[in-house]
Amino acid sequence: MKHFALKFTGLAFFAFVANSPVLAAKSPAAVDAKRLIAADTEPGNWMSHGRTYSEQRFSPLEQINDSNVSRLGLAWAHKFDDERGVETTPIVVDGVMYSTGPWSKVVALNAKTGEVLWKFDPKVERIVAAKGCCDVANRGVAVWEGKVFVASYDGRLIALDAKTGKQLWSTLTVDTKRSYTISGAPRVVNGMVLIGNGGGELGVRGYVSAYDGKTGKMKWRFYTVPGDPKKPYENDTMKMAAKTWDGDQYYVWGGGGTVWDSISYDPELNLIYIGVGNSSPWNPYVRSPGNGDNLFVSSIVAVRPETGKYVWHYQLAPRDGWDYPATSQIIQATLAIDGKPRKVLMQVPKHGFVYVIDRENGKLISAEKFTTVNWASGYDLKTGRPILTGDGDYSKQPKLVFPGTQGGHNWQPISFSPKSGLLYFGETRLPSLHSNDTTAKFAERGRRWNLAEKFTIDAAPETKEQLAQLEPFLGGSLIAWDPVTQKKVWQIPHKIISSGGTLSTAGNLVFQGTYDGRFVAYADKTGKVLWESNAQTAVMAGPVSYSVDGEQYVAVGAGLGGAFGVTAGELSKASGLPTITRMLVYKLDGKGTLPPSPVSAKKELDVPPMPSAEAIDKGRVVFNDHCVFCHGIGAVSGVSFVPDLRYLSKETREQFMGIVLGGLRADKGMPHFHVQLKPEEVNLVHDYLVKRTHDLKDGK
Ligand code: CA
Repeated sequence: MKHFALKFTGLAFFAFVANSPVLAAKSPAAVDAKRLIAADTEPGNWMSHGRTYSEQRFSPLEQINDSNVSRLGLAWAHKFDDERGVETTPIVVDGVMYSTGPWSKVVALNAKTGEVLWKFDPKVERIVAAKGCCDVANRGVAVWEGKVFVASYDGRLIALDAKTGKQLWSTLTVDTKRSYTISGAPRVVNGMVLIGNGGGELGVRGYVSAYDGKTGKMKWRFYTVPGDPKKPYENDTMKMAAKTWDGDQYYVWGGGGTVWDSISYDPELNLIYIGVGNSSPWNPYVRSPGNGDNLFVSSIVAVRPETGKYVWHYQLAPRDGWDYPATSQIIQATLAIDGKPRKVLMQVPKHGFVYVIDRENGKLISAEKFTTVNWASGYDLKTGRPILTGDGDYSKQPKLVFPGTQGGHNWQPISFSPKSGLLYFGETRLPSLHSNDTTAKFAERGRRWNLAEKFTIDAAPETKEQLAQLEPFLGGSLIAWDPVTQKKVWQIPHKIISSGGTLSTAGNLVFQGTYDGRFVAYADKTGKVLWESNAQTAVMAGPVSYSVDGEQYVAVGAGLGGAFGVTAGELSKASGLPTITRMLVYKLDGKGTLPPSPVSAKKELDVPPMPSAEAIDKGRVVFNDHCVFCHGIGAVSGVSFVPDLRYLSKETREQFMGIVLGGLRADKGMPHFHVQLKPEEVNLVHDYLVKRTHDLKDGK
């Protein structure tokens, strides 16, 4: 700056100052409705979750492009405080980056140098980790008129001073007696902060709430499923929704429909689109035995920003029984369909189809499979309903359903390039076995699955042999997809079946992280690899691009964790990489380097005598009910921050009862289970773990 300042004097100097994004940063995060709606006029900033309200995650910057991307190098890296999954999308405004890390912590960084400006820790109690399904990751902040908003894992919505990181207000958005958690990023619309929550696997009722950004006072709340059938309906929308549910079991089990990720504001049509999650419990034969579509689970719902009043909905999977939330990113665009411009929404959710929906009325325009799918053969475009095959009906016998509960594509952000006309997203092929358990009872206290399904060994491949049987069905890739013709344009296979979020740019590039530890740039029209960098850990999050002082940067959060990381056992362990959490930032001719990866110490195996087959089988059931969330299928930890329970030491075995029932490791996020488990059940879990230690020793 000094260099230029010397050259300018008087008025010319001040004119330069006024136009300089860095010097204008005197007032941090000075983002208002006008700036957000006109975000495309500021390609150097990334002011909201999907860069613009369209949530396309396309950067118009083209300094880094297909002819020079091979020169990309590390500009700087910021090490986050904690080793847990990183799913954040950083916000960058006027030279400052605002990012979340694990445990909903927030950091403000100089976007050019990585210098830490401030940090904020909401001090989430570590045992709250056990209330959620999918690690303590967070997907990012929102900014508005000098404030930074973060939703903490334990359900608070917090406003911070963008200049200092000091807390301005905090509002509890959930009932802490139920297993609500928040991993999603808030969105800001006309001075309101919108936030949903998670917990669809643990028995909660979903909703999204709008709060006044200045005061934290709630303005409206939209429930996604009906409440207590004994009480009057909250409004006409709930009266309508309740007609699609049967009996009262849905209320006992929560109902689900949690809005844990996507919320998209459409300034053109003045609508907010809400991505509604799966039901609670998963099993429809238990929660709504006499049929019904179960609105609004697995739906996109449009509401009015001023009031939260229902306008229209489109349900992707009526009476969803497969953990198919419509929570994936909702992208707005105008596409030429049959030669006519149509205002559309696009979504690529777990269901295995790419959906194109008319956002003026919620009518389905098209839906096509992008991966292995067996629950539906396609969609009837007249009714907008899926054509069910019967292969997803597990009311009478267990069924292996494609896609499985990890989804054909999950939460990882995707991008749409208006320049290439293509969508870019990661694809996962992994089925799940679903089975009806009508004897299941809702467990009042959390810390266990509440699915009303048998989480059997067939659903969770435990040994290498069982995994090998699944092998023909497994796969993962990066797909480029034309949403107008609904056809795949190119596909690049990945080694690990899950992969990271994508960014596309006007430089004819697509960026994506991989779970085998790389950050990669592809040519957007062909999928040719043009550049890659070693991230030392899995890269799950969505990349962003921004510029400071005329120089373009590409940034991405790194660190394996999340649902796939902590639960998928051998499949997530396949990378063999530790979780090292960082914000990685690249630019042309960047010369930065990462410190060498730590070498993990070789672990000794303590192998007690083999328990009885009966004890092992009983222990497996208890483990899969209570422990598998965090400790992984088959007790194989897929991540370095959760202990692999096959390697229990003699000392830990002696303390085992105290750790599980007494909370000896509560400070590390291992809660006590004295309400949920009896001592004899803890012993059975231990017996099962001993069996798994034998399996490991025997190479199984
Ligand atoms: Ca779910």
